[in-house]
Amino acid sequence: MNAYIEEILETVKTKNPSEPEYHQAIHEVLESVSLVLEQHPEYLEAKILERLVEPERAILFRIPWVDDQGAVHVNRGFRIEMNSAIGPYKGGLRFHASVNLGILKFLAFEQVFKNSLTTLPLGGGKGGSDFDPKGKSDAEVMRFCQSFMTELCRHIGPNTDVPAGDIGVGAREIGFLFGQYKRIRNEFTGVLTGKGLNWGGSLIRPEATGYGSVYFAAEMLATRGDSLEGKSCIVSGSGNVAQYTVQKITQLGGTALTMSDSNGHIFDPEGIDEDKLQFVMALKNQRRGRIEEYAEAYPDTIYTPTDYSEDSNPIWDHKADCAFPSATQNEISGKDAENLLKNGVFLVCEGANMPTSPEGTHLFLDSSILYGPGKAANAGGVAVSGLEMAQNSMRFSWSREEVDHRLRQIMKNIHTSCVEAADRYGSKGNYVNGANIAGFIKVADAMMDQGVV
Ligand code: NDP
Repeated sequence: MNAYIEEILETVKTKNPSEPEYHQAIHEVLESVSLVLEQHPEYLEAKILERLVEPERAILFRIPWVDDQGAVHVNRGFRIEMNSAIGPYKGGLRFHASVNLGILKFLAFEQVFKNSLTTLPLGGGKGGSDFDPKGKSDAEVMRFCQSFMTELCRHIGPNTDVPAGDIGVGAREIGFLFGQYKRIRNEFTGVLTGKGLNWGGSLIRPEATGYGSVYFAAEMLATRGDSLEGKSCIVSGSGNVAQYTVQKITQLGGTALTMSDSNGHIFDPEGIDEDKLQFVMALKNQRRGRIEEYAEAYPDTIYTPTDYSEDSNPIWDHKADCAFPSATQNEISGKDAENLLKNGVFLVCEGANMPTSPEGTHLFLDSSILYGPGKAANAGGVAVSGLEMAQNSMRFSWSREEVDHRLRQIMKNIHTSCVEAADRYGSKGNYVNGANIAGFIKVADAMMDQGVV
């Protein structure tokens, strides 16, 4: 890595201590971008990189709320408005106990390049809270969402910043958040995406991230004259992204063998077919139970709890062809990556954001496997959010087939952009460099056009 990039990284670390995920995300992007700097000295003079690593705005606020017993709780809320060079800030809200400033800054930073790759006019942002919806009643989640939106509503708007869901924020939470925005602002507008179908949502938005990830995998396989037909797949997570990843794998002729949550994973040697997936959807989306219950319902399945004191997770130690990490950041350690390669996995497609540790990423890049990084592979979610915004502006809805067709085309275009950028800057077949460079150039050029702002 060149000295200029090293210096920026050191400054980021000094200015943003205790934010390892943010450092990790910046490190990876700048490592790729260093390949283009020689041909673009103008970016150096305009301090594009120094500006990119500094959020345009970071909002931090208090969220007081009352539980069903009348006890008062206080959580912390955030919205990181990272970069608006190519459109209004866009990115999800995450409700999870692990949320902090560094995690949301890493996610907002990734979002800038991901949104650029979609070809839609979307800037990058991310937000959320350290509130944990697990074990809370619907009424508690509603009161929390209302308190969260009471502050957030003054910072967002359909032409300013348009949040969506992420971990812990699904259809239920988006409904409560939208209701409170509408009540306070007295306007019915496309200020959030992932809305319900009968009040402004888009068909295929729930499916989009998972379907898009599998479409991206299909594109990668096609470069080797292959397809998902007959492939065995490891999928992690059991939330929104994992569910629709499993569904699309099955539809394209593959077999999903595993799903997980933060307590452990199930391995079903027969595969998770559509009926079993419906069981998981009811378990996770309605009953809000644990994945362990799958093994009680389907006795041929093996449930293994996760032991976080170990340096590897047994979910990544099954024989398979493909892996779709779809739960959370850094879920694949260096040891897990070794296990995947040892077991014959030749495609890794990241539904989650930054699920692979730096050690794992280097192992994948040094091998000859097909490795699709999250900012390209999981861009289908935000892409259909962009389509939801377009439909809201037109006050018109496209059919399921129309949106799915557009999603498939966007994933194909993202794949082509990654391949071409990697080729052009001397790292053929490296989707990490391809995605970072293609995403970066469009944002950097827009920043050049708009002056020093
Ligand atoms: P959900 O909340 O629907 O599901 C998250 C899943 O991951 C759950 O099974 C959850 O288990 C598991 N999980 C969460 N945190 C951890 C952890 N620390 N360790 C182990 N497992 C964990 O979220 P999504 O499916 O929406 O998001 C999954 C990933 O995909 C995230 O990285 C997100 O940023 C990314 N993503 C999501 C998009 C979307 O449209 N939703 C778009 C692009 C990326 P448990 O229930 O036990 O917490």
